[in-house]
Amino acid sequence: MQNAIRHYVVADEKFLCSEDGSLVLLGDSDLISLSVELIVKHPVKSHGDKFFYVSCIQPKHVAGYQWLSLRNLLEQLSEDELQTAGRALQVLRWHFDHQYCGRCGNPTVQHSQDLAKTCVHCAVDFYPRLSPCIITLVTRGDECLLAWHTRSKEEKYSCLAGFIEVGESPEQTLEREVMEEVGLRVKNIRYASSQPWPFPGQLMLGYFADYVDGVIKVDKQEIYRAHWFQYNQLPKIPPATSISGRLINTFVQERLRINTIKD
Ligand SMILES: [Zn+2]
Repeated sequence: MQNAIRHYVVADEKFLCSEDGSLVLLGDSDLISLSVELIVKHPVKSHGDKFFYVSCIQPKHVAGYQWLSLRNLLEQLSEDELQTAGRALQVLRWHFDHQYCGRCGNPTVQHSQDLAKTCVHCAVDFYPRLSPCIITLVTRGDECLLAWHTRSKEEKYSCLAGFIEVGESPEQTLEREVMEEVGLRVKNIRYASSQPWPFPGQLMLGYFADYVDGVIKVDKQEIYRAHWFQYNQLPKIPPATSISGRLINTFVQERLRINTIKD
């Protein structure tokens, strides 16, 4: 019987992909036939009778394949596929980042049950690092605020986002980030949905917020430009597989519904 193990093959944080750019998952025998040098293998997830592993190998040119970063694959993966591939990448990062105890420097060992590495000297467990972030769509009637972030070379607009600092609630982060990045005050903060975002280990908490007052003044550190956009005259927005795209689409649907009722 064909076993149901599938490997994400990763080298230098890039995924093995076909020549046409699709993410490839290999069975055990296919992986062996690549004749690659395995560095580490970790279970990622099981789904029904399927077991997903991530196998990290020494970087190597593999004839008939290419290596692509997860960001390069964003447009083609479904949200589920992105989540599992993202988890694979984060499991590997955790493996390499916690081989030694940060407190005493001794090698760690694999925890017997959890996805954790343990220092037996200090009795400390090291879990994969998660960084909670807020992401928000600020709205003003039929308009929403979208920003061109400095991390994007091309002119692309999306929601505002930021890391939650220690001792801060997500709502406080949201108010602080909106003020720092665009100089606006907001109210009526409503939680919408969330998404793991493995670049490198964010957990995005998505919110809507209503504009109160202020004039857009961008910080230029994180944002090049920010504008109010009418719901039916939007620039190119992120794909619906990202939480940013989802928040914007939800807002558009809501305004369409409200304006149809008005008419
Ligand atoms: Zn230790």
